[in-house]
Amino acid sequence: MRRRLLSLLSALVLAITGTVTASVALPGTAAADGCYTWGRTLKKGMSGSDVTQLQIRVAGWVASGENLVIDGQFGERTRLAVVRFQRGYGLAADGVAGPNTFSKIYALQDNDCTPAHFAYSEMDGNCGANNFNGGKVSAATAKRNTLRMMWQLEAMRHKLGDRPMVVSISFRSVRCNDSVNGASTSRHMYGQATDFSTRSGPTLCQMFHAAKTSGFEEILGPGYPGHSTHTHVANDPVRLVSASRC
Ligand SMILES: [Zn+2]
Repeated sequence: MRRRLLSLLSALVLAITGTVTASVALPGTAAADGCYTWGRTLKKGMSGSDVTQLQIRVAGWVASGENLVIDGQFGERTRLAVVRFQRGYGLAADGVAGPNTFSKIYALQDNDCTPAHFAYSEMDGNCGANNFNGGKVSAATAKRNTLRMMWQLEAMRHKLGDRPMVVSISFRSVRCNDSVNGASTSRHMYGQATDFSTRSGPTLCQMFHAAKTSGFEEILGPGYPGHSTHTHVANDPVRLVSASRC
Protein backbone atom coordinates (compact mmCIF):
# COMPACT_ATOMS: atom_id res chain seq x y z
CA MET A 1 0.00 0.00 0.00
CA ARG A 2 2.77 2.37 1.00
CA ARG A 3 4.62 1.56 -2.20
CA ARG A 4 1.50 2.32 -4.24
CA LEU A 5 1.12 5.65 -2.44
CA LEU A 6 4.75 6.45 -3.11
CA SER A 7 4.48 5.70 -6.80
CA LEU A 8 1.29 7.75 -7.01
CA LEU A 9 3.10 10.58 -5.29
CA SER A 10 6.10 10.42 -7.58
CA ALA A 11 3.78 10.31 -10.63
CA LEU A 12 2.15 13.45 -9.31
CA VAL A 13 5.50 15.16 -8.78
CA LEU A 14 6.54 14.23 -12.31
CA ALA A 15 3.27 15.56 -13.71
CA ILE A 16 3.86 18.86 -11.95
CA THR A 17 7.53 19.30 -12.75
CA GLY A 18 7.43 17.68 -16.17
CA THR A 19 10.59 15.80 -15.27
CA VAL A 20 11.30 12.86 -17.51
CA THR A 21 11.69 9.72 -15.47
CA ALA A 22 14.11 7.07 -16.53
CA SER A 23 13.25 3.93 -14.66
CA VAL A 24 12.89 2.15 -18.00
CA ALA A 25 15.17 2.22 -21.00
CA LEU A 26 14.51 4.71 -23.76
CA PRO A 27 12.25 3.36 -26.53
CA GLY A 28 14.19 1.10 -28.83
CA THR A 29 17.00 0.46 -26.37
CA ALA A 30 17.49 -2.62 -24.26
CA ALA A 31 17.46 -2.44 -20.47
CA ALA A 32 21.00 -2.44 -19.20
CA ASP A 33 20.33 -4.95 -16.45
CA GLY A 34 17.62 -6.26 -14.18
CA CYS A 35 18.01 -3.43 -11.69
CA TYR A 36 17.73 0.01 -13.21
CA THR A 37 18.46 1.69 -16.53
CA TRP A 38 19.10 5.39 -16.89
CA GLY A 39 17.48 7.03 -19.89
CA ARG A 40 19.16 10.42 -20.00
CA THR A 41 22.44 12.11 -19.16
CA LEU A 42 22.33 13.74 -15.75
CA LYS A 43 24.05 16.93 -14.71
CA LYS A 44 23.93 19.71 -12.18
CA GLY A 45 20.55 21.42 -11.91
CA MET A 46 18.50 18.38 -12.87
CA SER A 47 16.15 16.53 -10.57
CA GLY A 48 14.13 13.35 -10.53
CA SER A 49 14.02 9.75 -9.44
CA ASP A 50 16.90 8.97 -11.82
CA VAL A 51 19.03 11.47 -9.87
CA THR A 52 18.04 9.68 -6.67
CA GLN A 53 19.19 6.38 -8.16
CA LEU A 54 22.49 7.98 -9.15
CA GLN A 55 22.99 9.52 -5.70
CA ILE A 56 22.60 6.12 -4.02
CA ARG A 57 25.38 4.73 -6.27
CA VAL A 58 27.85 7.57 -5.61
CA ALA A 59 27.09 8.08 -1.89
CA GLY A 60 30.47 6.62 -0.96
CA TRP A 61 32.42 9.19 -2.98
CA VAL A 62 32.15 12.22 -0.73
CA ALA A 63 34.53 14.66 0.94
CA SER A 64 35.91 13.70 4.35
CA GLY A 65 33.14 13.89 6.94
CA GLU A 66 30.41 14.50 4.39
CA ASN A 67 27.23 12.44 4.01
CA LEU A 68 25.48 12.83 0.67
CA VAL A 69 21.80 13.74 0.94
CA ILE A 70 19.73 11.44 -1.29
CA ASP A 71 17.09 13.92 -2.39
CA GLY A 72 16.81 13.61 -6.16
CA GLN A 73 18.37 17.06 -6.65
CA PHE A 74 21.62 17.12 -8.65
CA GLY A 75 23.46 19.87 -6.78
CA GLU A 76 27.13 20.70 -6.33
CA ARG A 77 27.76 17.94 -3.77
CA THR A 78 26.28 15.36 -6.12
CA ARG A 79 28.41 16.73 -8.94
CA LEU A 80 31.56 16.43 -6.84
CA ALA A 81 30.62 12.89 -5.80
CA VAL A 82 30.22 11.99 -9.48
CA VAL A 83 33.63 13.53 -10.22
CA ARG A 84 35.25 11.42 -7.48
CA PHE A 85 33.45 8.29 -8.65
CA GLN A 86 34.64 8.90 -12.21
CA ARG A 87 38.20 9.58 -11.06
CA GLY A 88 38.10 6.48 -8.84
CA TYR A 89 37.24 4.28 -11.79
CA GLY A 90 39.50 5.96 -14.34
CA LEU A 91 36.76 7.71 -16.31
CA ALA A 92 36.85 11.25 -17.69
CA ALA A 93 35.98 13.26 -14.57
CA ASP A 94 33.53 15.88 -15.83
CA GLY A 95 30.87 15.54 -13.13
CA VAL A 96 28.25 14.72 -15.76
CA ALA A 97 26.70 11.27 -15.53
CA GLY A 98 26.42 9.98 -19.09
CA PRO A 99 26.86 6.64 -20.88
CA ASN A 100 30.40 5.94 -19.56
CA THR A 101 29.42 6.56 -15.96
CA PHE A 102 26.25 4.49 -16.28
CA SER A 103 28.17 1.65 -17.97
CA LYS A 104 30.49 1.51 -14.99
CA ILE A 105 27.55 1.43 -12.60
CA TYR A 106 25.87 -1.35 -14.62
CA ALA A 107 29.10 -3.31 -14.43
CA LEU A 108 29.17 -2.79 -10.68
CA GLN A 109 25.57 -3.60 -9.83
CA ASP A 110 23.73 -6.88 -9.55
CA ASN A 111 20.15 -7.41 -10.73
CA ASP A 112 18.86 -6.76 -7.21
CA CYS A 113 20.62 -3.36 -7.30
CA THR A 114 23.25 -4.31 -4.74
CA PRO A 115 26.87 -3.55 -5.61
CA ALA A 116 28.98 -6.39 -7.01
CA HIS A 117 30.93 -7.17 -3.85
CA PHE A 118 28.22 -7.00 -1.19
CA ALA A 119 25.01 -9.02 -0.94
CA TYR A 120 21.95 -8.75 1.30
CA SER A 121 22.72 -12.27 2.51
CA GLU A 122 25.84 -11.06 4.32
CA MET A 123 24.13 -7.98 5.74
CA ASP A 124 20.99 -9.60 7.21
CA GLY A 125 22.69 -12.03 9.63
CA ASN A 126 20.61 -10.69 12.51
CA CYS A 127 21.83 -13.31 15.03
CA GLY A 128 20.98 -16.12 12.61
CA ALA A 129 17.53 -14.84 11.58
CA ASN A 130 18.68 -13.84 8.07
CA ASN A 131 16.09 -11.12 7.65
CA PHE A 132 15.65 -7.42 8.32
CA ASN A 133 12.83 -7.88 10.84
CA GLY A 134 12.57 -6.61 14.40
CA GLY A 135 14.73 -3.52 14.17
CA LYS A 136 13.90 0.07 15.06
CA VAL A 137 12.48 0.63 11.58
CA SER A 138 10.39 -1.52 9.23
CA ALA A 139 12.16 -4.33 7.38
CA ALA A 140 11.65 -2.42 4.11
CA THR A 141 13.33 0.68 5.52
CA ALA A 142 16.17 -1.33 7.03
CA LYS A 143 16.75 -2.98 3.67
CA ARG A 144 16.67 0.36 1.85
CA ASN A 145 19.13 1.82 4.37
CA THR A 146 21.33 -1.22 3.89
CA LEU A 147 21.36 -0.80 0.10
CA ARG A 148 22.58 2.78 0.38
CA MET A 149 25.23 1.68 2.89
CA MET A 150 26.38 -1.17 0.65
CA TRP A 151 27.20 1.31 -2.12
CA GLN A 152 29.27 3.28 0.37
CA LEU A 153 31.03 0.04 1.29
CA GLU A 154 31.66 -0.73 -2.37
CA ALA A 155 33.35 2.67 -2.69
CA MET A 156 35.42 2.00 0.43
CA ARG A 157 36.46 -1.39 -0.91
CA HIS A 158 37.54 0.10 -4.22
CA LYS A 159 39.57 2.83 -2.50
CA LEU A 160 41.35 0.11 -0.53
CA GLY A 161 42.48 -1.74 -3.65
CA ASP A 162 39.47 -4.02 -4.23
CA ARG A 163 40.43 -6.47 -1.52
CA PRO A 164 37.71 -8.50 0.22
CA MET A 165 36.10 -6.85 3.23
CA VAL A 166 34.55 -9.44 5.53
CA VAL A 167 31.32 -8.46 7.28
CA SER A 168 31.02 -9.84 10.80
CA ILE A 169 27.60 -8.29 11.45
CA SER A 170 25.42 -5.69 9.86
CA PHE A 171 21.66 -5.62 10.58
CA ARG A 172 20.48 -6.56 14.07
CA SER A 173 16.95 -6.71 15.48
CA VAL A 174 16.44 -5.04 18.87
CA ARG A 175 16.52 -8.47 20.52
CA CYS A 176 19.66 -9.48 18.66
CA ASN A 177 21.28 -6.18 19.61
CA ASP A 178 20.40 -6.71 23.29
CA SER A 179 21.81 -10.24 23.21
CA VAL A 180 25.24 -8.97 22.16
CA ASN A 181 25.07 -5.99 24.55
CA GLY A 182 24.88 -3.53 21.66
CA ALA A 183 24.33 0.14 22.49
CA SER A 184 20.65 1.05 22.90
CA THR A 185 21.05 3.62 20.09
CA SER A 186 23.00 1.28 17.79
CA ARG A 187 22.55 1.96 14.09
CA HIS A 188 22.79 -1.79 13.51
CA MET A 189 19.05 -1.79 14.34
CA TYR A 190 18.36 0.58 11.41
CA GLY A 191 20.33 -1.17 8.67
CA GLN A 192 22.84 1.65 8.88
CA ALA A 193 25.89 -0.01 10.44
CA THR A 194 28.38 -2.69 9.47
CA ASP A 195 31.24 -4.30 11.38
CA PHE A 196 34.25 -5.65 9.49
CA SER A 197 36.40 -8.42 10.88
CA THR A 198 40.17 -8.92 10.91
CA ARG A 199 39.68 -11.56 8.18
CA SER A 200 39.29 -8.66 5.74
CA GLY A 201 42.05 -7.92 3.21
CA PRO A 202 42.61 -4.37 4.47
CA THR A 203 43.55 -3.91 8.13
CA LEU A 204 41.04 -2.60 10.65
CA CYS A 205 42.87 0.75 10.62
CA GLN A 206 42.92 0.97 6.82
CA MET A 207 39.15 0.45 6.82
CA PHE A 208 38.77 2.99 9.64
CA HIS A 209 40.54 5.66 7.58
CA ALA A 210 38.83 4.84 4.26
CA ALA A 211 35.40 5.12 5.90
CA LYS A 212 36.01 8.84 6.54
CA THR A 213 35.70 9.70 2.84
CA SER A 214 32.94 7.16 2.19
CA GLY A 215 30.08 9.01 3.83
CA PHE A 216 30.08 7.49 7.32
CA GLU A 217 29.66 9.60 10.46
CA GLU A 218 30.25 6.93 13.07
CA ILE A 219 33.55 5.14 12.58
CA LEU A 220 35.03 3.13 15.43
CA GLY A 221 38.07 0.89 15.46
CA PRO A 222 41.02 -0.39 17.51
CA GLY A 223 41.53 1.70 20.62
CA TYR A 224 37.85 2.51 21.02
CA PRO A 225 36.31 0.39 23.81
CA GLY A 226 34.94 -2.91 22.51
CA HIS A 227 36.41 -2.48 19.03
CA SER A 228 39.74 -4.29 19.18
CA THR A 229 38.61 -7.01 16.76
CA HIS A 230 36.46 -5.10 14.31
CA THR A 231 35.94 -1.77 12.60
CA HIS A 232 32.43 -0.34 12.84
CA VAL A 233 31.12 2.07 10.21
CA ALA A 234 27.67 3.67 10.32
CA ASN A 235 25.39 6.29 8.88
CA ASP A 236 24.47 8.08 12.06
CA PRO A 237 23.02 11.51 12.82
CA VAL A 238 25.62 11.81 15.58
CA ARG A 239 29.25 12.11 14.49
CA LEU A 240 31.73 9.92 16.39
CA VAL A 241 35.08 8.94 14.88
CA SER A 242 37.50 7.19 17.19
CA ALA A 243 40.27 4.59 17.01
CA SER A 244 43.19 5.71 19.16
CA ARG A 245 45.37 2.81 17.97
CA CYS A 246 44.99 3.69 14.26
ZN1 LIG B 1 29.08 -2.14 15.08
